[in-house]
Amino acid sequence: MKQDKAIVVFSGGQDSTTCLFWAKEQFKEVEAVTFDYGQRHHFEIECAKEIAKEVGVKHHILDMSLLNQLAPNALTREDIQVEDGKDGELPSTFVPGRNLLFLSFAGVLASQVGAKHIVTGVCETDFSGYPDCRDIFVKSLNVTLNLSMDDTFVIHTPLMWLNKAETWELSDKLGVLEFVRNKTLTCYNGIIADGCGECPACKLRNNGLNEYLRSRKGSSNV
Ligand code: ZN
Repeated sequence: MKQDKAIVVFSGGQDSTTCLFWAKEQFKEVEAVTFDYGQRHHFEIECAKEIAKEVGVKHHILDMSLLNQLAPNALTREDIQVEDGKDGELPSTFVPGRNLLFLSFAGVLASQVGAKHIVTGVCETDFSGYPDCRDIFVKSLNVTLNLSMDDTFVIHTPLMWLNKAETWELSDKLGVLEFVRNKTLTCYNGIIADGCGECPACKLRNNGLNEYLRSRKGSSNV
């Protein structure tokens, strides 16, 4: 097994694209995997394809339509509204088991292509209460994957403790802020780059960007 090969779980959004560039700096060989689970906006998959091509990484697209069949949700169904969770409930965009399945399948793929490292953009800081974005979940799954395949995978979560402004800062440090800003799709309404500006994903992304750009401007005046 190569110590320097990584699989990036890649959706074509801001976070996973930043992770893709991060991984390119860390590892000699990087491949990306995108899961097609019947996203409402199939354009997401197209964005991911386009980015992987431009960045020059091998791109695997895996059919995970089973996930939508099991757990219909606001990301896959037109008739389910995107809503924040109320009274401690999870938002309607939560897909039970999504990261469990994605990371498990990424582990199987890693074992098939001889990669030791798995990179995911999950984040505990800004997360909407998704239990499978928590650090403790990822660490637990890492142990489980290694036991299940008698292997020594390492799951990396470079964004785990960053807020959105800091994620933008990381992309700037990697020299790809404009690339990430213009070519990724995070918006729940399927609009690339700065998005619709109204949905929860756009608000989080744009607030973070504005906060980072303000701080950058402030520090360059010092
Ligand atoms: Zn939006």
